[in-house]
Amino acid sequence: MRPRLLALLLAAALLVAGACGGSQRSSDAGSGRYGSSESDTGTSTEDGRPNDDGTSDESPTSTVDPSSPPGTQAGGRPAAGSGGASRPSGGAPGTTVAGGGSSQAVRVGPYGSLARSVLGRNGAANVVVEVIQQAAPRPGTVDYVTSVLREVAPKNIERPAPVSLGSDDTVWTADEIRSAADRFGRAQQSQSTAVLRLLFLRGRFDDGGGDEGVVLGVAVRGDVAAMFVDEIARAARPLLDPAVVEQAVTTHELGHLLGLVDVVLKTGRVDPEHREHSRNPQSVMYWAVESDLISQVFTGEPPRRFDREDLADLAAIRDSS
Ligand SMILES: [Zn+2]
Repeated sequence: MRPRLLALLLAAALLVAGACGGSQRSSDAGSGRYGSSESDTGTSTEDGRPNDDGTSDESPTSTVDPSSPPGTQAGGRPAAGSGGASRPSGGAPGTTVAGGGSSQAVRVGPYGSLARSVLGRNGAANVVVEVIQQAAPRPGTVDYVTSVLREVAPKNIERPAPVSLGSDDTVWTADEIRSAADRFGRAQQSQSTAVLRLLFLRGRFDDGGGDEGVVLGVAVRGDVAAMFVDEIARAARPLLDPAVVEQAVTTHELGHLLGLVDVVLKTGRVDPEHREHSRNPQSVMYWAVESDLISQVFTGEPPRRFDREDLADLAAIRDSS
């Protein structure tokens, strides 16, 4: 009798221990968040043990979260005039999203908030470039942007097959873009994997403001940027290849996700007229690159690359994160 009781008790104890371990593990996974200052702190030590070289993914992003809002807070549209207004709400800081259809909550802040995770030597080991398309990007666009990312982020970069975005919408607000990214996105943010979601959309962006400048692309959250393929076609003049424009615009939005210009770092080199943009017209981060004025502002092809200062900023973020 007694040994059996003991065995039963032992079995029960093991069951309880097993259950605890399981839930701990799952909450660990849930806590591998970007900018999730609210996530369960008790779990990061366990998670961080294998590859956490001091700075977990949490710390970089939670330090970025508060720092990036200046340019990106709600209503953070730049004083920029036409076209430079790529800044809608910049993503509600700390937006909670369900990643990849999972029930795990992921907190991703405004654009720039994943920069340290994507770039940092101690950030995520993997970066997923997820394409969500209402309309297919032009051939070469995603390859090009991935190659640019590869040059600045020393990571294992993955590119899963594109996901179709089933929608007839032709007017997109920042909220709608974020919702679509959450609905259709499959890749899941985790401590070891940062996901950048690039949406290729029909129609146009509705910035909610009156001063209509048509944007060709927009970054709306730390992990989400959208490119407007129809507007890109319209903005490219007859002699300018829309594919080149699309590469430029997509790289520009990638630059916003990576925290340029002066979103993550404060270098003072930002264009005062067009916040978060470079003053250098040779940089892909020049404001006009995402504007429908692109073919008027640039006499030749628009820049498709980060300039020296952009690269220096990205390297500084990479080496300090
Ligand atoms: Zn921009």
